[in-house]
Amino acid sequence: MILITGGAGYIGSHVNKLLNNKGYNTLVVDNLCESKESSVKWGKLVKCDLEDREGLEDIFNTYDISAVMHFAAFTSVSESVKCPEKYMHNNYENTVNLLNVMQEYDVNKFIFSSTAAVYGTPESIPIKESHPLKPINPYGESKVHVEKELEKRSEDYGLHYVSLRYFNASGDDPDCEIGEQHNPETHLIPLILDAAIGKRDNITIFGTDYPTPDGTCIRDYVHVEDLAQAHLLAYEYLEDGGCSDVFNLGHGTGFSVKQVIEECMSVTGIKFEVEVGERRAGDPSILVADSSKIREKLGWRPVNSSLTNIVNTAWRWHLKLNFKNHHYFND
Ligand code: UDP
Repeated sequence: MILITGGAGYIGSHVNKLLNNKGYNTLVVDNLCESKESSVKWGKLVKCDLEDREGLEDIFNTYDISAVMHFAAFTSVSESVKCPEKYMHNNYENTVNLLNVMQEYDVNKFIFSSTAAVYGTPESIPIKESHPLKPINPYGESKVHVEKELEKRSEDYGLHYVSLRYFNASGDDPDCEIGEQHNPETHLIPLILDAAIGKRDNITIFGTDYPTPDGTCIRDYVHVEDLAQAHLLAYEYLEDGGCSDVFNLGHGTGFSVKQVIEECMSVTGIKFEVEVGERRAGDPSILVADSSKIREKLGWRPVNSSLTNIVNTAWRWHLKLNFKNHHYFND
């Protein structure tokens, strides 16, 4: 059985769906603080906080766990700048708690949700895994701490891990069974789609004075289904005896905030108001992955990650979430 922490959340729920579709048994462990029980449509759910060592021990005692995929974490860069301790506690200390329980129960395969935020302001683009780790926000710092912990444990007692450094996870399940649903929402595409349906008055671009061609930040958007596929490949890699390793998980193409807004206008056919605001603290100007390592070593291909497919699937899910009776779902 594969244990998925944070399996009720955005990325975890897509991985949970894929693993079950491929015939794996999964156990979702989630405290449901930022997600809903209804997102766990496959496998089994146990509500538990990763801070709760006894609760975790109980889970490892009860279920036959072969590997852990660890998604449970706070993910907002801006919130991490305001509340760094909250990020260090939940993202780092609670992960150490989980790793300690894994060690106690001899479970030694671990797939970790890391992030491009570990690199900070890139010294070169596209970013390779060998790029120095110099995070510029506490969110990125919390993930670097975990990666260092994993490295140490791999040397100390043979933990086998894969750390996947996500670039911008986006898009949604094409069947609209699950999808992105943060409260409050901070991510660009769902916020733009909120502007498109009139749920908010406009979308604000956080800074137009970055050193990029149109002055807005460039990010590497990768579809959540492709992310999910990478987890399956990483699991199979560890099962086949692969050594602990770190991989970038991005499409390898960058789009600016303005380009994403244009794509959303084109897909939705709606012209909404766009405002220019101040830069957001903690945002590097460009993050684009060199994803050759995961392509070569794990055979991963980002087949769903065109910007049009990302926005299309996000738009369908957004309509379902906000207007359950929209004609898209009744045709
Ligand atoms: N962004 C923006 N307006 C918003 C939300 C985000 O201009 O209302 C920008 C943000 O500054 C970043 C990009 O969109 O450059 C992607 O932000 P997001 O929060 O989606 O992901 P992040 O890159 O922080 O992981």
